[in-house]
Amino acid sequence: MTKTIRDLPIEESLTSGTMLCAGCGGALLVRIFEKVLGQNVVTVNAAGCMSMLSVFPLTPFKSSWFYVAMASAPAAAQGIRDALDMLIKKGKIKPENDLKVVVVTGDGAASDIGLQATSGAMHRKLDFYYLVYDNEGYSNTGFQASGSSPYGSSTKTTHPSAMTPQGTILDKKDLFEIWRAHKPPYIATISPAYIADMMRKIDKASQFAGPKLFIAHSPCPPGWDIDSDAVIRLAKMAVETGVWPLKEAVNGEVAHSFVQKKRRPVEEYLKMQGRFEHLFKPTRQEQVLQTIQGKVDEYWAKVVK
Ligand code: SF4
Repeated sequence: MTKTIRDLPIEESLTSGTMLCAGCGGALLVRIFEKVLGQNVVTVNAAGCMSMLSVFPLTPFKSSWFYVAMASAPAAAQGIRDALDMLIKKGKIKPENDLKVVVVTGDGAASDIGLQATSGAMHRKLDFYYLVYDNEGYSNTGFQASGSSPYGSSTKTTHPSAMTPQGTILDKKDLFEIWRAHKPPYIATISPAYIADMMRKIDKASQFAGPKLFIAHSPCPPGWDIDSDAVIRLAKMAVETGVWPLKEAVNGEVAHSFVQKKRRPVEEYLKMQGRFEHLFKPTRQEQVLQTIQGKVDEYWAKVVK
């Protein structure tokens, strides 16, 4: 059982020397996730930034890695789970040597391109872990907008313009609630700034058979226009401003890990990132800023109630 950061295994499952950007929030989360789960894991990766981790013939993983198209990672996970079950049934693998099946995917695959396959896997009650590194855009191809890009952010396809001075005009999809409607046994949001919370949630999830889903706040230095060494500070600020609620749903019952007595203004989070700079310069977009703060306040008002 991992209770504090000191309980993390020293041994790395994801070793150094990858081609990802320095400070990549997603890479940090995958590293910790795999550390907590151990090495009896087979990871299924939907095409995205993390695909750069394992490029034949090189891999930083000590466990297996299976790369598939963006739309089909949960379907591939089903095939692997079925194969493992059959091998155990035939006595070719001992039950104690069974592997955990883990999907690692970006928010584009999770919210848009692969949502259908994820919905199917949840419906079939597939026994797997599903980790989304949510960097709020299609970062692997230059940071185009995804269904997870937040209102008011600038992406390569939602630049601020005369007609849309706020940048992205749509709201971020609520993946947590989309999943919750499918009634999986476990869902959680996690953050690279709250590792102990993340460890506790992975441990808790492992008690359940069926879909175990995680949405990870994943600051992306080039896409969010931040310095590599600002990733953890920014992730902490997202929780302190209430932009990124840390929560879990066990059999549909939602509980929050942190409820701030006094939240910091959302502006403090936005100002740390170049992708929101147009909201402050050359002129302050007061209405847009109030709208963003209002959405966060509305969320927490329901939680506190
Ligand atoms: S573009 Fe962003 S998500 Fe992709 S590797 Fe770089 S930091 Fe990570």
